Amino acid sequence: MKNGILGLIALMVSGSVMALTPWQKIDHPVSGAPQAVGGFANGCIIGAQPLPLNSPDYQVMRTDQRRYFGHPDLLAFIQRLSNKANQKALGTVLIGDMAMPAGGRFSSGHASHQSGLDVDIWLQLPRQRWTAQQLLKPQPIDLVSANGKQVVDRHWQPQIASLIKMAAQDSEVTRIFVNPAIKLRLCQDAGADRDWLHKVRPWFGHRAHMHVRLRCPAGSLECLDQDIPPAGDGCGAELASWFKPHQPNANPVKTEPPPLPPTCQALLDNHFSRR
Ligand SMILES: [Zn+2]
Repeated sequence: MKNGILGLIALMVSGSVMALTPWQKIDHPVSGAPQAVGGFANGCIIGAQPLPLNSPDYQVMRTDQRRYFGHPDLLAFIQRLSNKANQKALGTVLIGDMAMPAGGRFSSGHASHQSGLDVDIWLQLPRQRWTAQQLLKPQPIDLVSANGKQVVDRHWQPQIASLIKMAAQDSEVTRIFVNPAIKLRLCQDAGADRDWLHKVRPWFGHRAHMHVRLRCPAGSLECLDQDIPPAGDGCGAELASWFKPHQPNANPVKTEPPPLPPTCQALLDNHFSRR
């Protein structure tokens, strides 16, 4: 009996965690001039555009999730990067999650990706294009060893470093998140040209993809930029701190989300009152 009740409670808790946010129920972009609103982890987007799903340079994964929307600056960045990757014959660029049609919060998975300026790009560059089935159920390649201290040599390729470097050198990009072991490998291999490493930030997870973040677009007056990363290539003490036993807490205590930016709240109110 006791187990039954506990099981029921567990079920209710997991049910509430998985409940969709209102943003996940909006299936089309909000019309208007494109504007990223609020912060990367508490915002929304007006006038988002879908990334074109057919391109010779990239492929879009899990299109059934409809997370391929973003600010036009983000679409332009993806096209620019993929085109360069193709010109350098690095392989096909695999595009993961961007934002939902109106941006906003996910029930699980991402904390950011809310204002149409973030994109996950996988750190594998297939020589042959993937089939529709592979794109719907993509298989990530874990680049990091089980102890988290280095990349797995048999999975690591110079093309991956080239892709990250090209993204970091894009003037619209402000931050790229990768696993600390991946940043370490980039630091070791960079040689004299290391300015770009400044934007590559170590973070939890990100073992099979990089998360690229753009600056607030001109004209997005309610968009909140982050401070620029600390000076230097970030290959010294800061990176080393990630490999010490007492890392920053991987599971911070969940707090209530902050209030939405008023424009995003108004957008939700308007969307759901019209139904
Ligand atoms: Zn991401």
